[in-house]
Amino acid sequence: MEIKAAVVFETGGEFRIEQLELAEPNDDEVLVRVVSVGICHTDLGARDGHLPIPSPPSVFGHEGAGVVEKVGARVTKVKPGDHVVLAWDYCAACSSCKSGKELYCLDFFLHNFHGARTDGSTTLRKGDQVIHGCFFSQSSFADFALANERNVVKVRDDVPLEVLAPMGCGVMTGAGAVMNSLRPRPGASIAVFGVGNVGMSAVLAAVAVGCTTIIGVDIHPDRLEMARELGATHAIDASEVDPVEAILDITGGGAEFSLECVGNPQVLRQAVDVLPRLGICGLTGVVPPGTEVSLNMDLLMNGRTVKGILGGDAIPDLFIPRLIELYSQGRFPFDRLITYYPFDEINQAVVDMEEGRVVKPVLRL
Ligand SMILES: [Zn+2]
Ligand SMILES: [Zn+2]
Repeated sequence: MEIKAAVVFETGGEFRIEQLELAEPNDDEVLVRVVSVGICHTDLGARDGHLPIPSPPSVFGHEGAGVVEKVGARVTKVKPGDHVVLAWDYCAACSSCKSGKELYCLDFFLHNFHGARTDGSTTLRKGDQVIHGCFFSQSSFADFALANERNVVKVRDDVPLEVLAPMGCGVMTGAGAVMNSLRPRPGASIAVFGVGNVGMSAVLAAVAVGCTTIIGVDIHPDRLEMARELGATHAIDASEVDPVEAILDITGGGAEFSLECVGNPQVLRQAVDVLPRLGICGLTGVVPPGTEVSLNMDLLMNGRTVKGILGGDAIPDLFIPRLIELYSQGRFPFDRLITYYPFDEINQAVVDMEEGRVVKPVLRL
């Protein structure tokens, strides 16, 4: 079928809206009419060639939300008309997948960054030219996307789909890091380093689970202000004060939990240095492969933990409906993070995100 998609034709280049041909769904695939799609830093990392993906032309986009248009013969999870959020794909057969940790799938790259289906067949073309698709098994910077049954999450249909797009990656990552990985008890203290989309979702989750000291750290004053509006009890501008000293001071000895959402070795060091004994630091910030960090080994020795977290350690089919329930009760107002753009303004949305003017741009199709 004919679709409209945002194509990157060269590494680091602009997005261009083009008419493309999309393949028919295979037996285990789902065709989704995309209603909205969030833009995430991973899309830009892919555009800039920082991921192990085939060279352009490519269609990215991995925070799609929409309506099921058509399903393959063996699909039982959803039917046409169902509202869905798209997440990541996995093999369902490796040791990680078998233990319920699909994000740590040993074949994750093949299922998400291959530019084609796992059997090598391609799904997108422009005339004779093959365009790489299947990004996170969706390539949802388009009005229609082909997903696998595994990575569509059925959601209730009384919540507007345009709100739900960021659930598939950024919001789930931040909220899940708190709710699934760190699991602070009510009354606990937590410091969130970097209050962009992931960090802000972590702040919202910390409020929802009853943390009573929630410290946001950033260098953008407007983001810090928003973090306070969303429930952070303290906001620290790391461009003005030493966040480690400030946090030790606020908490009287350390934040029981910390979360690094920046992807910077110095910031990870700070996030570990603010922990008291038995404290846990979660790491969600993405860094280039091979990045090293220096830590105080003696501090770690005293019961401190550093934990890498992908996708909020979430099982999307279970976790996304729970977050939507909290949202609909007014207890997880993640829609406050969103700025909407028409699909045609994708390049403007990217610039605004890169310059820190918006937290989570969402494109309306
Ligand atoms: Zn697997
Ligand atoms: Zn993402």
